[in-house]
Amino acid sequence: MSVLWLVLALSCLVLQQVQSNKYEGYKIYELPKAKARSAVLDQALAVLSMNDTHYEVFSSGSQPARIMVHPEEQLNFVQLLDGHSLNYRVLNSNVGRTLRRQFATDRKLRNKFPYRGNGRLGTERFYSHGEINQYIEDLAQEQPRRVFVKTVGRSYERRLMKTVTITNGDGRRNKNVILVDGGFHAREWISPATVVYLIDELVNNLSENADLLLDYDWVILPVVNPDGYEYTQLSEDTRMWRKTRKPSSADCIGTDPNRNFDFHWNEGGASDNPCADTYAGSNAFSEPEAQVVSDLIHSHAARGKMYLTLHSFGPYILYPWGWTSDLPDTVADLHEVAQAGFDAILADTGTFYEIGSSTNKLYVAAGASDDYAFNAGFPISFTMELPPGGTGFDPPASAIDRMVKETFVGIAAMARKVVQKYPLA
Ligand SMILES: [Zn+2]
Repeated sequence: MSVLWLVLALSCLVLQQVQSNKYEGYKIYELPKAKARSAVLDQALAVLSMNDTHYEVFSSGSQPARIMVHPEEQLNFVQLLDGHSLNYRVLNSNVGRTLRRQFATDRKLRNKFPYRGNGRLGTERFYSHGEINQYIEDLAQEQPRRVFVKTVGRSYERRLMKTVTITNGDGRRNKNVILVDGGFHAREWISPATVVYLIDELVNNLSENADLLLDYDWVILPVVNPDGYEYTQLSEDTRMWRKTRKPSSADCIGTDPNRNFDFHWNEGGASDNPCADTYAGSNAFSEPEAQVVSDLIHSHAARGKMYLTLHSFGPYILYPWGWTSDLPDTVADLHEVAQAGFDAILADTGTFYEIGSSTNKLYVAAGASDDYAFNAGFPISFTMELPPGGTGFDPPASAIDRMVKETFVGIAAMARKVVQKYPLA
């Protein structure tokens, strides 16, 4: 009997070891919006968050702050909050467990909903970079007059970066352009998922979206950072990766591709530390992925009317500038288009987006793609931070359908406003 108990105890131990991951015991705390926090507390939080092995600030800005804290630091952290009599709540009591469950679900869904190579990707699950590339190739084969795929570069790990151009098939050239990308930050899986849904709507639902394709072509890069995106799909331990995968120093890997653009590069909101999540890179455009997006921006700038880059999480619709709190001269145009997206989403689902300039609504982030595209000539340039899900950056697969449809309502409304404001010359 005692031997049986020993075997049982041992196998439980083994099972626990198999199951535990890097984020075991990590908690996520939600703090009130900045207005409700004291400056003293915010200074203390800023000091704590420099310890980036134990703290990660998931969100700040004008939304409630979310901070992920290592088990060893939780007591300290809570004492700090209590010392300032701050109301907080534990949003997630074990990030490791949440990720473990999500990975198990994702594995099941992959088997249940394989990509059948038929130009249809549903909203049941998240897809790999390879599947998304195959999907756009299949669409182009199916609709050779309307859908065009182009290889525009390679990532550091040599993955093919492909754009899909969607037209209404009337063969007219030199239309205006809306340029969209997703998957800058590896862990923000809902971004490529939304791009896939956008592609599906524009290609397969032409009757509803004909006005968006009459005088406009859409050029879309679904995954800007494919190496990082694939890395986050490897295991629970890598799920929270944000950066590219090119070594940044002897000890660390990756640069924040959205701090790597050559416009006021590294002038704020980025880090010089190669190990940090917001590392700006050794120089502007050190990352081949950022260079690819830059080339796309320049090659479409003459006809480009809106640049839209999809991130998570907010929800925010952000416009330039991200390098300064000053506002562009044409802020009224930017705000008008953002407002159209805001109104449409609010009416559709009740989700309340914040709209404003990146620096004023979220934080300083110099060297980002939206500032770069705006400066290069796109009159409308937005970063859309989709709503949080799961622990923040990781909405579960069950949330995809609802989130991508909601976001599409906003994108379509903004595009309609752009089409109206900037008719074909
Ligand atoms: Zn992002």
